[in-house]
Amino acid sequence: MTQFQPDAGAQRPVHKFGGSSLADAACFHRVAGIIHNLHQPDALIVVSAPGKTTNRLIELLSLFASGDSAAPEALEGLHDFQRNLIATTLAPDQAEPLLAALEDDIQTIARVLEQSRLGDFQRNLIQSFGEVWSSRLLARLLSCQGLAADSLDARRFLLVAGTPVQVDEAESRRRLGEILAEHPARIQVVTGFIAADAEGRTRLLGRNGSDFSATLLAALADSSHCTIWSDVPGVFSADPRRVKEARLLTRLSLPEAAELARLGSPVLHSRTLGPVAASRQQLMLRCSYHPDDGHTRISRQSRREAGGRIVTSVDDAVLLEMTIPARYQDRVDALTDWLTRRELAPLACKRRPERRLWQIAYTREQAEQAFALLKDHQPAGGFEGLQLREGFSLVALVGKEVTAQAEQCLQFYHALNEQPLEFIQPAKNGLSLVGVVRKMVLEPLLLRLHQSLFSRPKRVGLVLFGRGNIGQAWLRLYREQKPRLERELNLHLSLYGVFDSRGAMLSSQGLEVDQVLADFQPRSVVWPDWLEDLEEHGFDSLVALDLTASESLVQYYPALVQQHIHLIAANKQAGAAEQEYYLKLRQTLAEHRVQFLSNATVGAGLPVQTSVRQLQQSGEQIRTLSGIFSGTLSWLFQHYDGSQPFSELVLQAWQQGLTEPDPRQDLSGEDVKRKLVILAREAGFDLDPANVRVSNLVPESLAALDRERFFDRLAELDQPLAEALALARAREEGGVLRHVARFDAQRHEAGVGLEVLGPEHPFAHLRPGDNIFAIETQHYRQNPLVIQGPGAGREVTAAAVQADLWQLLAGL
Ligand code: ASP
Ligand code: MG
Repeated sequence: MTQFQPDAGAQRPVHKFGGSSLADAACFHRVAGIIHNLHQPDALIVVSAPGKTTNRLIELLSLFASGDSAAPEALEGLHDFQRNLIATTLAPDQAEPLLAALEDDIQTIARVLEQSRLGDFQRNLIQSFGEVWSSRLLARLLSCQGLAADSLDARRFLLVAGTPVQVDEAESRRRLGEILAEHPARIQVVTGFIAADAEGRTRLLGRNGSDFSATLLAALADSSHCTIWSDVPGVFSADPRRVKEARLLTRLSLPEAAELARLGSPVLHSRTLGPVAASRQQLMLRCSYHPDDGHTRISRQSRREAGGRIVTSVDDAVLLEMTIPARYQDRVDALTDWLTRRELAPLACKRRPERRLWQIAYTREQAEQAFALLKDHQPAGGFEGLQLREGFSLVALVGKEVTAQAEQCLQFYHALNEQPLEFIQPAKNGLSLVGVVRKMVLEPLLLRLHQSLFSRPKRVGLVLFGRGNIGQAWLRLYREQKPRLERELNLHLSLYGVFDSRGAMLSSQGLEVDQVLADFQPRSVVWPDWLEDLEEHGFDSLVALDLTASESLVQYYPALVQQHIHLIAANKQAGAAEQEYYLKLRQTLAEHRVQFLSNATVGAGLPVQTSVRQLQQSGEQIRTLSGIFSGTLSWLFQHYDGSQPFSELVLQAWQQGLTEPDPRQDLSGEDVKRKLVILAREAGFDLDPANVRVSNLVPESLAALDRERFFDRLAELDQPLAEALALARAREEGGVLRHVARFDAQRHEAGVGLEVLGPEHPFAHLRPGDNIFAIETQHYRQNPLVIQGPGAGREVTAAAVQADLWQLLAGL
């Protein structure tokens, strides 16, 4: 199902699935599938209540409290929902014990609710059932599917006290350690959101508290990784539901994440990050619906580049205002700390000394709590005249040292000044700029901010490998086409590095093409250390162009891909590599969402691969691929009519530069084989080069000689070819010999070698040197799609590379 790769070597990894990931039977099965794919037999799975169950439990409590006659009906509705969830998730015999346990729970709930006044612990108990039901059901489903899994109630180990909740870490860790030691190599499905006090009574970790449960558990279990799976893949540059161009951020630093959480982001909560900072766990956000849609990694290291990266907002904000007498002006910091300790850190604070006014902004939910708390705290807190003003919205720009980015600050002030602005406040930690405006529809402002702040041209670096014929032709083409590319695709392109067999030149300012062509002064490079040099590139994206024929360079492709470097190759070695390497490369490309284009490897500039790919993507079944794939062999056999010996033609072709320096490389058929493999793979088939039959035109007696001796004995080529030609003519009037590559998808056969063709065959009469490709599909059957034209030469090959570059950049 999915491609995503779990973290290799993870220890006691924690995975948390939220309510929206567990909304119905299909969701439970999807989550079970993800857990299977993890191959982590000691994973700790934290779950929230299914769908909106917690909301329903809270509603139930309030209906009973107010004596509403709809209360029993609401309980029955909840009962039905859970029963149905169990029955649709599990097979009937497996559902049995869970249904029985559910009956007991519903009776318990009914019994508790009968009491006239419920205490906090009883209310907590009722709310805890959602998580209990999730963990039980998921553990059961996993067991039924053959995984060793238990359901674990967090109240068995998570010990808390106080308000706001304080975790007794030492004792919780000890208890958890005991439980885990009893069940090594079993998956534990742990209830999120709930904990217990020293008397074993239920305590809650607050709404959306399961994320906190997850990072807390990871800290207690000393886990190496913690992944929070929800219905979004991570943190975006803005809310993607409101700003279409918003981009997923693959990496966010812990301080940036904390700032975002402080500003009320629904994706991350401040409490969740506490245990992350205090342990070694690596936190990841991911989407359970589309595991391959990317992720956000919360990293401990600060990012190299400073700047705002996220526009976030709170639609409904409230201002608390108070007067602070002049002699107490220095108390506001202490007051902020005092609130923060009570989990009521303000979103933004503004001092207006001229009016002795202090303004603090909150989300609506927090404002009432903060107001009540502050009300009791005056005048001891050194302020008076506390007021609550409603009707505000908040917009913020978050990112490392954003307050020091002149350009971004200017854009932000500009955009906000046109609104009914209350104030703008740069955060002391430099991580955010917050603007409070009169309440309004925020979309136009968010869009405008996102556009002006983030749609600067992308900076793309290019790294060229190879300064041979094709490399030089491409450099000239690039020099000519660069302005057009930059303009049409809104990019800044730089030639960041050029490598040849002697060494490399690298410059983050960008190399001049003229210098690379005429005055190349490489410094020697140590392989593979240069990979590290590349890592520090500082561009938004990097593209490597392999215009060599090097086999050793191809070994570094996976490392390049892991560094998110896109690849364009005229080199056939990777596309035609043995199956194991090739599949691994494809997998790495998919995991890292890196592009690999190689249209220059087959038919040079002819749109062969693109046509094959388009046909395949349109749902066409490709049946056969065939043709004359070598310009050299095309030339030789178009001319070979018996009037002169084959060896003479080979010599002529060699003299005209139509062959490789050693013509045996063309005659062996190996190069054609590579092209056939690349094309079949492009068409979606697994073709291992080992399974291609190749008939070599070079007799064994000539294969091992050095080049001089080979040319001396060139005439030894003639006899077998003369025989083959005679045979062709005997078989059919006007019959011709052609060097044909052929892949038959249904028989899964592939071969490269001489064929006898009738005079009417489309391959029989080409311009000498032209390539021809015939693609037979279910709809192009009687009449295959044919692409024909010059399939070699430095200019057309360089053009194919340039076309790949365009396509790749357009897709960034
Ligand atoms: N089920 C709890 C809630 O809805 C905890 C959570 O979902 O994280 O708040
Ligand atoms: Mg091509």
